[in-house]
Amino acid sequence: EAPLMRVAGVHRTYRQRKRGTFNTYRNIQAVRGVTLDIMPRENFGIVGESGCGKSTLTRMLAWLETPDTGTIVLGGTDLAKLTPRELIRKRNEFQLLLQDPYTALPPRTTVGRMIEESLRIRGEIPRKEMRAKVTAAMAEVGLPAKLYDALPNALSTGERQRISIARALILDPKLLILDETLSAIDQREQGKLIDLFSRLQAKNDLTYVFISHDLAMVRKVCTRIAVMYLGEMVEIADNRDLFFDPQHPYTKALLSAAPTLEEKPFNAGDFLLEGEPPSPIDIPPGCSFASRCPKAFARCRVETPRLQEHQPGRFAACHLLDTAEAEPAAA
Ligand code: SF4
Ligand code: MG
Repeated sequence: EAPLMRVAGVHRTYRQRKRGTFNTYRNIQAVRGVTLDIMPRENFGIVGESGCGKSTLTRMLAWLETPDTGTIVLGGTDLAKLTPRELIRKRNEFQLLLQDPYTALPPRTTVGRMIEESLRIRGEIPRKEMRAKVTAAMAEVGLPAKLYDALPNALSTGERQRISIARALILDPKLLILDETLSAIDQREQGKLIDLFSRLQAKNDLTYVFISHDLAMVRKVCTRIAVMYLGEMVEIADNRDLFFDPQHPYTKALLSAAPTLEEKPFNAGDFLLEGEPPSPIDIPPGCSFASRCPKAFARCRVETPRLQEHQPGRFAACHLLDTAEAEPAAA
C-alpha cells in the first residue's frame, strides 16, 4: 500500500536577529532532515521534549510553513507544486487540530458559527444545507444540538475539542494532525475522545498524526511512533517495539524519565536523562545526543549516525546499532 503522506529530507532553519544587535543574525536549525512515511489509517505518533522541533515539523506537515528543502507529498501530490487555488482544495484533505483552538478565537462566536466558518472558506453553501451539515457534524462528534447557539466560554475543554474535530470533519479529511490535542484534559474525557477518534477512523478511513510529549497517551493510542531529538528523528518503530525494546539511547532515557510508564523492561537506571539538549543554534558535530548519552564513544563526536532500518520496520540513528563495528563497551 502507498503511504498517505511522504515526508522526505525536510529541513527548516529560522534566521533570528541576535538580541541587542541590528544586523547580526543567527540560524536556528529547527528541523534537520526528517524523512518518514505515514501509512493510510495508522495512528502515527511524534514525541520529543519541548524545543526538539516538533512544533515546526507540525506546521510543515499541516503546510502552514514550507520546508527550506525536502518534500511533503500527500496522496501522491507534492504540496509545493500546487497552485494557491489547488492548495485550497487540497487542504480539505489534511487538517490540523490545535490543543485548545478557542484560546485564539473571539468569545462571541457561537458553536454553530464556528463550524460553519470552516465550510464557508471553501465556498458558498445555501443556508439550509449549511445548518443541516453543521448539525450532522455536531452529532458525529457527540455534541448535543442544543449547543448550536452556545458560546465557547460555556463549554469544557473536551467540548471545545469536539468542536475543532467537527470543524475538521465537515471538510471530509483523510488526515488529521493533532497537536497535543489530548493534553490538558482529564482522563475520563481523554478516554472518550480516544473512543471518538477510533470510531471516526473506522467510519471515515481517517489517518492520525499525534504530536505529543505525553508518552502514556501515545502508548495508548499510536500504532507507530517517531522519536525526535534536536530536529532529527532518532528512532521510528511500532508501538510494542518502541516501548518494550527501544533501540536508541535517547528513547531509553525518555522512557526512563516518564513518570507515567510503570513497566520499564530495559535497565532504565542506565539511562538517566541529564542536562539539556545543545542549542539548535550551535549544533555540535557527530551525534546530536552525544553530550547527554551515557553510551557515547569516540566515533559519536565526529560522525553523525544516520537513521537506518536495523530490523524490519525498526529505524534508529545510533552507531551502537552498526553490528559490523559495534564498540565492545556498548554491551
Ligand atoms: Fe549515544 Fe553514540 Fe548512539 Fe549517539 S551514536 S546515541 S552518542 S551511542
Ligand atoms: Mg515546541
